[in-house]
Amino acid sequence: MNAFSMIFLLALVLAAATRLWLDARHFNHVRRHHDAVPAEFAGTISLESHRRAADYTCAKIQLGAFSAAFEVLVVLALTFGGGLQWLRDIAAVAPAGVLRGLLLIVLVGLVMTLVELPFGLYRTFRIEERFGFNKMTPRLYWIDFAKGLALAAALGLPLAAAVLWLMEKMGEYWWLYAWVLWMVFNLFMLAVYPTWIAPLFNKFTPMDNPELKERIERLLARCGFKVAGLVVMDGSLRSSHGNAYFTGFGKTKRIVFFDTLLERLTPQEVEAVLAHELGHFKLRHVIKRIAWAFAVSFVFLWALGFVMDKPWFYAGLNVSTPSTAMALILFFIVVPNFTFMFQPLAAMYSRRHEFEADHYAAQNASATDLVSALTKLYKDNASTLTPDPLYSAFHDSHPPALARIGRLQHT
Ligand SMILES: [Zn+2]
Repeated sequence: MNAFSMIFLLALVLAAATRLWLDARHFNHVRRHHDAVPAEFAGTISLESHRRAADYTCAKIQLGAFSAAFEVLVVLALTFGGGLQWLRDIAAVAPAGVLRGLLLIVLVGLVMTLVELPFGLYRTFRIEERFGFNKMTPRLYWIDFAKGLALAAALGLPLAAAVLWLMEKMGEYWWLYAWVLWMVFNLFMLAVYPTWIAPLFNKFTPMDNPELKERIERLLARCGFKVAGLVVMDGSLRSSHGNAYFTGFGKTKRIVFFDTLLERLTPQEVEAVLAHELGHFKLRHVIKRIAWAFAVSFVFLWALGFVMDKPWFYAGLNVSTPSTAMALILFFIVVPNFTFMFQPLAAMYSRRHEFEADHYAAQNASATDLVSALTKLYKDNASTLTPDPLYSAFHDSHPPALARIGRLQHT
């Protein structure tokens, strides 16, 4: 134990305690409002739907709190409990260098995957199932799981190997090279995701509703927006939650609608939702977000470069054999505990973008249609209308329902 151990423990306890305290607040707040629909939604959302949303939210909070607490135990076991050192000794069967580092990363990755597995199963087959959202069979769940692992190996292993190699060969400024590699990797992923990766999990078909298509094409022309295609995704294969999103960039941009969304919204409502998404592009939110992510990864990689050769970093976390792979793993374990306190800032930034995109939608489509679309989505997705304000400030990338609808009704 050194001074860094104490700082790390303090951050770990502080982050976990804050998280659990917020969960408890949110849980109690939602419970307290269980039996009354907020006046603004009295005409559109029934008491039954409202209660269902409250029960669903509470079930998710309980699982989230349990998994957060368990995660703290795992982190303690890996560091002070000697887990990482033990895994490192197993990885020593591989020849020293990049291969040994890779094996250590794989072992830690497998441990983390196993730890998260029961929570994922419980979420899908208990909570989502109980509220009628789950459409997955256990067979599909395991097929997804296997595909996910294979994909993580196919993409993650070469990336990790390249980073380890840079760490070992590029001297003091390795982290600058790693940063460039990270950016290239991310842009590459953005480019290939719609055509190579998403089709591994879902089927995509061209939109075939002529009325809706015409409506959307008029909206796109009005907003001066070009896309390569409008496609429908079989989201109903896994879940009845509805959504719409953009993928690709430049000329390969596509708009993807979940079939579940198209089933429930009217063409006018779909247009309003799409106008909101267009707003994110037109107002440069997407570019800003990518730029932010790259700026943040620059700082993190610099910080990793700084601690990598400091003996106190390893000793403080109970690891006696420093290596580049170990530095990488420890860094990923340590950092979230320090960044948690900045979460409200990131969430606030994101909520501001949501308000701006709503405003854009109100100008280019219709605020009334967006309000009715959002209300349907809140109802169908069983989103709570009464989140705890502090919890929401920390966690919510989207403004709370009341604030969002209120603002739209006054534009
Ligand atoms: Zn949005």
